[in-house]
Amino acid sequence: MPIIYDDEKSYLFHDKDTPDKCFMCSKNTATLLVFRQIASMKLVHLCQDCICDNLGDYLLDNTRPWLGEKGKFG
Ligand SMILES: [Zn+2]
Repeated sequence: MPIIYDDEKSYLFHDKDTPDKCFMCSKNTATLLVFRQIASMKLVHLCQDCICDNLGDYLLDNTRPWLGEKGKFG
């Protein structure tokens, strides 16, 4: 069962982003990470090389809150 979030609008992907290619170089690498592009505040997939070269333009986005019983995990 998919997890349903109440903040979907904060987690929109960039119009030109595709989940199987790097947003910047279009390479299809084994590891693509989701970052937030500061210019658009939209989410994009980036490869390791691009994120290293452009850290100033992107933010690692691991801020999504998990829904569930408060205090369940401590
Ligand atoms: Zn790349």
